[in-house]
Amino acid sequence: MGETLHIIGGGMAGSEAAWQAANMGVSVVIHEMRPKTGTFAHRTGHLAEMVCSNSFRSDDHERNAVGLLHWEMRQAGGLIIDTADSHRLPAGSALAVDRDPFAESVTARLLAHPLVSVTGDEVTGLPSSGHWIVATGPLTSPPLAAAIRAATGADALAFFDAIAPIVYAESVDMSVAWRQSRYDKGETEEERTAYVNCPLDRERYEAFLDALLAAETAAFHSGEESSAPDATPYFDGCLPIEVMAERGRDTLRFGPMKPVGLTNAHRPETKPYAVVQLRRDNALGTLYNIVGFQTKMKYGAQTDVLRMIPGLEAARFARLGGMHRNTFINSPTLLDGAMRLKARPNIRFAGQITGVEGYVESAAMGLLAGRMAAAEILGRGIPPPPPDTAMGALVTHITGGAEAKTFQPMNVNFGLFPPIDAKGGRRGRKDRYKAYTDRAKSAFSQWVAEQG
Ligand SMILES: Cc1cc2nc3c(=O)[nH]c(=O)nc-3n(C[C@H](O)[C@H](O)[C@H](O)COP(=O)(O)OP(=O)(O)OC[C@H]3O[C@@H](n4cnc5c(N)ncnc54)[C@H](O)[C@@H]3O)c2cc1C
Repeated sequence: MGETLHIIGGGMAGSEAAWQAANMGVSVVIHEMRPKTGTFAHRTGHLAEMVCSNSFRSDDHERNAVGLLHWEMRQAGGLIIDTADSHRLPAGSALAVDRDPFAESVTARLLAHPLVSVTGDEVTGLPSSGHWIVATGPLTSPPLAAAIRAATGADALAFFDAIAPIVYAESVDMSVAWRQSRYDKGETEEERTAYVNCPLDRERYEAFLDALLAAETAAFHSGEESSAPDATPYFDGCLPIEVMAERGRDTLRFGPMKPVGLTNAHRPETKPYAVVQLRRDNALGTLYNIVGFQTKMKYGAQTDVLRMIPGLEAARFARLGGMHRNTFINSPTLLDGAMRLKARPNIRFAGQITGVEGYVESAAMGLLAGRMAAAEILGRGIPPPPPDTAMGALVTHITGGAEAKTFQPMNVNFGLFPPIDAKGGRRGRKDRYKAYTDRAKSAFSQWVAEQG
């Protein structure tokens, strides 16, 4: 028997990583602290416990990016997706599962695997030798989080996400918005036009503010705030917009919506009363985040309020804003393309702690990390999946495509994929999504086939 792969955390990512590595012939030890040491959200000692919703979201693999991720995980013999399929509940086009039997079944299948063992210990430090995957998720235990922080630097590990909404660039109305950096700053034309600006006159600003102040907000889960080593989710510069708005009717106009240093390219003679700025969120330029607009508004209210902004009336959102307890590292600076910590390559990271968001995305990153770690132990290499697959787009985003300075967790979405049909005529959105998934399926099948 060769070297052992150790996996810290037996959640969505850790369970999937263990399955993949063991099926490649590598012996695996999962170190899972539950039930001895719990978290505020988990209830059981089962592996792969779903902490909140029982949904793996859309199962439409032809026109939905998360459905495509399901498809790819099925192709790659994924444990999480296969067990979810076996415990499926009626939920229209979504993949909802019977949560307890699902987690019990994942646990039983792993325990029955001759190459997998599970220990009930909490790991409190980062091991300096051996092959390890850290898959401890959004509620990584405090001692291990402190050890990761010591190894990566305080700025590289966050305890809360503060997500500003992200808009598909193509859905912004550029007959209203214009490209310009404040005071035209920048060495190159690209830098001088790095932001997309949406202007508001006084009337629109006041109406926007009223709607914002009236919008319903989501509460923190019980235990969410007190479980973080940094107990306050609202650190400087990251206040939700609705909290800023409560401080005075001009607070936003002097904060993230300040109009200074910007000239409306469509109406240069009219000085905007306020401006909402959008900043590029990925190297492809397909996604833009709304600068400084982290929010706890409920999703329905959020889209209604944001679409009041001129230029965003028909905006489509790759993800909506939110603030949650969430431990995650700055993957774009810390990880290499094979998900290894650059400074300590014997350690890989997988799952939500890498800055992906959701059960499915976390399991998918576990699948990749498990395969990559096992291949390394077996003396083979595995290239990352091509960036035009869902798994490839996600791993490319977190390990390099995303903006490191503003890195926040991300769901899989078509905005992460290299654009398709850039020059062709205007295809319907549904056809375009089908073109994305057709391209991805062919590339992913080839990637799986190459691994034998
Ligand atoms: C309150 C809350 C609600 C959420 N709701 C949803 C939702 O509705 N839908 C959704 O898709 N996603 C949701 N998420 C995100 C979801 O938790 C993740 O997407 C998914 O579970 C992440 O998978 P993971 O394997 O990275 O982490 P997890 O599934 O959390 O697994 C990590 C495992 O590591 C263990 N662990 C932690 N520290 C240590 C240690 N030091 N030593 C040993 N073991 C350790 C934990 O006990 C846990 O079992 C929610 C998260 C939270 C916190």
